[in-house]
Amino acid sequence: MQQCLTCGAFSLMTVCPECGERAQAAAPLKWSPEDHRASLRRKMNDVESADWPSNLSTLPSLEEMQANLSQEEE
Ligand SMILES: [Zn+2]
Repeated sequence: MQQCLTCGAFSLMTVCPECGERAQAAAPLKWSPEDHRASLRRKMNDVESADWPSNLSTLPSLEEMQANLSQEEE
């Protein structure tokens, strides 16, 4: 199954029957536990840089959660 990159129409051809633009495989990449693209993904996200851990999301501190909770109760 192919999907047009321009108008989103589905077809079996790599050229869109609706608008004539390029269509591409609509199915997502197959997932593999071996993760063949892991090294590419690490490079893309720059995980070896020193700042990367600080970009990870964290839970708010307990004090912040208690403050938010008491605001919601009012
Ligand atoms: Zn199209």
